[in-house]
Amino acid sequence: MEIREFQDMMKHLYLKRDRERGVGGTFSWLMDEVAELGEELKGNDREATEKEFADVIAWLASLANIMGIDLEKAALNKYPHKCPKCQSSPCACTF
Ligand SMILES: [Zn+2]
Repeated sequence: MEIREFQDMMKHLYLKRDRERGVGGTFSWLMDEVAELGEELKGNDREATEKEFADVIAWLASLANIMGIDLEKAALNKYPHKCPKCQSSPCACTF
């Protein structure tokens, strides 16, 4: 499954509810899920961490759906198989 297919699946599952919640509410959920991921990263529960990654990408897809943004297109436009700063692959930027 590609990013676009995942986003379409989320659209099919949740778009009606996501639209009713709106951009602000959905962004707030995304931020809550990012915070939960941050908490899981402090521990060593691999399965719980994996679920938080799933929640983050799901809420990101929901937010993109409300905004009419194609995540796959946006991601590949910004990261076209090379670093957008140094234009290299792998990235050769200095830390
Ligand atoms: Zn770079």
